[in-house]
Amino acid sequence: MPDDHAAGGGATPADTRRRRIDAALRHSPLQPAFRAVAAARLAVLAYHGIDDPPTFAAQMARLARTARPVSLAAVEQAVRDRRPLPPRSVLVTFDDGDPSVLTHGLPVLRRHRIPAVAYVIAGLVGSDRPYWWSEAAFLARHGGSADGLPPGTAPDGVVRRLKQVPDTVRRRALQHLRDTARRQAPRTPQLTAAGLAELRTGGVAIGNHTVEHPCLDRCTPARARAEVEQAHHLLAGLLGEAPTSFAYPNGNLDPHAERALTDLGYRTAFLFDHRHDRRLPRNPLRISRLRVNADTGPHRFDTILSGLHPAVHRLRGGR
Ligand SMILES: [Zn+2]
Repeated sequence: MPDDHAAGGGATPADTRRRRIDAALRHSPLQPAFRAVAAARLAVLAYHGIDDPPTFAAQMARLARTARPVSLAAVEQAVRDRRPLPPRSVLVTFDDGDPSVLTHGLPVLRRHRIPAVAYVIAGLVGSDRPYWWSEAAFLARHGGSADGLPPGTAPDGVVRRLKQVPDTVRRRALQHLRDTARRQAPRTPQLTAAGLAELRTGGVAIGNHTVEHPCLDRCTPARARAEVEQAHHLLAGLLGEAPTSFAYPNGNLDPHAERALTDLGYRTAFLFDHRHDRRLPRNPLRISRLRVNADTGPHRFDTILSGLHPAVHRLRGGR
């Protein structure tokens, strides 16, 4: 959760410390060595929404200058032909289909001619329903309670907990939170079918990110399969073309979902493991991605691209 759907906020002493560490890493002698290794690998960047448009614009300008942005089609072709992508290849991806990808992301991507992929939650397209984790956090902040959630659990803790329990328990808890909170979560306009079409026209492919965004490894086998299949058919109907790429919600791999992807002929599926992959991915249904936010500063952005930040993250016990 802290890595996936991280909350924004003002600068705290911890932020200042983090920025100092980012700058030290960026200027360390390790950075050029890591950068040289990374140039021979594939970097797939996993974003969510664009909460800081100027910083995101600076990141894309940097990519356009120093890397080789590639499309999903190019990755699929590399896999099909068994031919590695060129050095310094970067694929930009966005999870959850946040409307800011259309309003703030697309103009920047177009300006720099950077192709991308948006993995959308099929059940939310055209609706005004908030993401379930935003709703749960809101309800917890407004007095909502549920079995298995100790009273006084912080909203972030509630979401973390709901990502760990069986999915049936998560759904029940979400309903209890709705029934007990003082206020209901505000409605949130999501991307529409027209918005998806606009993204595609602008060079952003649309991928499958399930119907409801449960953690698939917390679902029953039948439910995990249904999440993949139903989202596939919903998106095929909306796009007039079946999606060929998938991203695991929260990055949680699940064998039943994977089998469904194979049966549906998916060409690629993406994790959220904060790693580079090979320029010819070893397993196209388990391609690694690097976690990055639209408000990530230039020092950290550089060390994520070089693989130094992920290496330090792993040394410190991060997944
Ligand atoms: Zn997601």
